[in-house]
Amino acid sequence: SEPIIRLENVSKIFKLGLLGKTMIKAVDRVNMDIREGEILGILGESGSGKSTIARLILKIYEPTSGRILYRGRDIKEYRGSKGLKEYYRKVQGVFQDPYASFNPRRRVLDVLRDVMKNYYPITSLQDIDREIGLTIEKVGLSMSDVIGKYPHEFSGGQLQRLSIARALLVKPEVIIADEPVSMVDASTRIDILNIFIDLKESEGISFAIIGHDLGLTRYVSDRVVVLYRGQIVEEGSAEILSEPLHPYTQMLAKSIPRIDKKWESKLEYSVGSIELGARGIGCIFVDRCPQAMDICRRQEPPYIDTGKSRVKCWLYTEKH
Ligand code: SF4
Ligand code: MG
Repeated sequence: SEPIIRLENVSKIFKLGLLGKTMIKAVDRVNMDIREGEILGILGESGSGKSTIARLILKIYEPTSGRILYRGRDIKEYRGSKGLKEYYRKVQGVFQDPYASFNPRRRVLDVLRDVMKNYYPITSLQDIDREIGLTIEKVGLSMSDVIGKYPHEFSGGQLQRLSIARALLVKPEVIIADEPVSMVDASTRIDILNIFIDLKESEGISFAIIGHDLGLTRYVSDRVVVLYRGQIVEEGSAEILSEPLHPYTQMLAKSIPRIDKKWESKLEYSVGSIELGARGIGCIFVDRCPQAMDICRRQEPPYIDTGKSRVKCWLYTEKH
């Protein structure tokens, strides 16, 4: 069936520096689908371009090139307040830091009511509150947990549940969740991921769930794409994360001392989203790859369909 969201050869370049002279390619020719009724996991280290992809799908950024389609229609056609609202009825976001996504000075219930008033303006307050009550139950809380409370009165996990509820209120077809559990208590991560799985099954909502933890991504996802420096290096069913083919995914799976701290801290710009001029012509992973060959420096690997996954690596071609 036709995907709900399709990215076609999408790139995003940021210009940085005083004169905008430094060009950063955060997303590099990404093709990806979010299909009906699935959870697509988007796995990558920070700086791999995964949050940029979320923001592109949520129309916070525009692609530098390529297209993003919602049910076959270019999402750039959804413009102006009316067009955006129409789009956000279908596609909602959940973000990493729930405290940053609620106004600290407003009671959470009032925020949820505002969403309902905005999207369902003729509904009575009584009906609005009933809808909110039902929605809050879907994320494992009840109206009495919420009444009168401000964001800081909730734990991170509770508030993240409420930001999922806020997204659900508009009855979207797709939710893009950018690192939805990375800031919540480790002991409640699985519970929150289970909410996504339940919603997929009971409401038929599709999800893209972005994360950097291979185990959690494998747990929650039906299909996965693995991103490295803005490029998809491997994709397939979630099982590929148990037996990955790409040397980068293999590295993540072994959780080799993942990345040293120095790497982590400079990554967002210098490692993750590599400067345009610094990009070699070969494989994007060549400098870290334990299996690099001559051809890897000279020529960009194509995507190879191995039957199990699609992998961007010379190891899986006859040609080298
Ligand atoms: Fe490693 Fe070469 Fe494969 Fe790139 S193409 S991941 S450098 S073996
Ligand atoms: Mg991020």
